[in-house]
Amino acid sequence: MVPGDLKDGRIVIVGASLTGLRAAEALREEGFTGSLTVVGDEPHPPYDRPPLSKQVLLGQATADTTELPMRRDPEADWRLGVRATGVDLLAKRVLLEDGESLPYDRLLIATGTRARPWPDPEEGALDGVLTLRTREDGAELAERLAAAPERVLVIGAGFTGSEIASACRERGLEVTVAERGPAPLVGALGGTLSKLAAVMHRNHGVDLRTGVTVTALHGDRNGSFTGAQLSDGSRVDADVCVVALGAIRNVEWLADSGLAAGPRGIACDAGCRAFTMYGIVTDDVFVAGDVSRFPHPLFGYQMLSLEHWGNAVEQAEVAAHNMVNPGPLRRPHLAIPTFWSTQFGLNIKSVGVPTYSDYVVIAQGSLEARRLAMVYGYQGRVTAAVTVDMAKSLDYYRHLIETAAPFPPPPGAADRAIAADVPIPSDVPDPSGLSHGPTVALTGYLPDRRLTVVQPAR
Ligand SMILES: Cc1cc2nc3c(=O)[nH]c(=O)nc-3n(C[C@H](O)[C@H](O)[C@H](O)COP(=O)(O)OP(=O)(O)OC[C@H]3O[C@@H](n4cnc5c(N)ncnc54)[C@H](O)[C@@H]3O)c2cc1C
Repeated sequence: MVPGDLKDGRIVIVGASLTGLRAAEALREEGFTGSLTVVGDEPHPPYDRPPLSKQVLLGQATADTTELPMRRDPEADWRLGVRATGVDLLAKRVLLEDGESLPYDRLLIATGTRARPWPDPEEGALDGVLTLRTREDGAELAERLAAAPERVLVIGAGFTGSEIASACRERGLEVTVAERGPAPLVGALGGTLSKLAAVMHRNHGVDLRTGVTVTALHGDRNGSFTGAQLSDGSRVDADVCVVALGAIRNVEWLADSGLAAGPRGIACDAGCRAFTMYGIVTDDVFVAGDVSRFPHPLFGYQMLSLEHWGNAVEQAEVAAHNMVNPGPLRRPHLAIPTFWSTQFGLNIKSVGVPTYSDYVVIAQGSLEARRLAMVYGYQGRVTAAVTVDMAKSLDYYRHLIETAAPFPPPPGAADRAIAADVPIPSDVPDPSGLSHGPTVALTGYLPDRRLTVVQPAR
């Protein structure tokens, strides 16, 4: 390789899922002709996760048919079923669990997240206690639902928990949802929409218990799950329990690497270049997808952690571009976070960062109609919008966010000719009071919310 020829050399990608695949494809599309190795600890070629909580649970698809289509052959050496155990930044090598090490000129870390397990390992090991993240998880849960259990208990009413509950009801199964916060989705969407979510759960026959914690899981002599104890003293008898307590970033393998890897992800700059633990930017280690944590100018340069399909794709492409182009040609990852969910017959779409808000306003439609667009504002600027069965308007709101438009938004957004309703507090709770986190989270500081108290000199 000619020194400085970024289109050649050795690139290693760790993480063979959505981000890893899209980055590998984009590297070739960007003209990378060197050697490309993709390491993944799952035994499968990259597959798609969103159908696992939707079509797969409804029996409309099987978990083994969720393979991600390839845009092109990335001509990569796929090292599947092998875990990376470390990175030597100085020697520029990725260490593998089988003892081998892979040399690289540039490295992309795309190790995503895993399901947060039930905190008590013994209870979590009961037969019938499941999580949902992998293809195997999806297949097992689908099989359990197909066996018509008497009742399913879902712990946590974030997006995944709510979609599972919705699928259960669609299959005619009894389901109890236990949520520590005041309502489903409250951590992601704030107070107003979470009230609509609670109505949807109950109208569809979900036994929704909010403001409660599950304190213990019980099993029979054979080690099969039989039910759970709740903090309000009640007990739920069920044969299947799905623990939907959010995700954990796969960063432990980088503990000794010297990279800025922590529970919120791996910090990188807007060009996807990883930071070291001293906050110094690297130039040969890149990060993208769910495991990354990156600053965004539209959200006060706060570090964002996302668990969004669209972000994984767009960030993978930016990372790939920047890995094979010199500094002045590099691009920032400035995409506006976008997320969708289907549950209880509703199509929910989110753009921006709803938790980065102090007020919300219903700009179109109404809660009663269950068809609406809610706009979120922070200190007089539009920062997010969520539509319920009104996805057509989303681009308009994306434009308002991109242009830092004043909040509340001007009238005439779409089908509503009058000014929006009166803004009300967005009512985003403290995440520590929830059993799940939002799928888009600010992980830095808000300038007006001081987190450090400086003691006056004595
Ligand atoms: C059930 C479910 C439903 C979802 N629904 C939606 C939705 O409706 N809308 C939406 O926007 N998003 C949704 N998502 C989120 C979306 O799937 C993720 O944003 C996306 O998968 C992120 O891709 P990723 O490649 O960054 O990470 P991941 O998909 O987590 O992939 C990371 C890969 O790296 C592997 N890995 C980890 N550590 C190592 C290691 N040390 N060595 C080698 N390999 C390693 C992991 O096993 C995994 O294969 C959903 C996710 C789930 C689980």
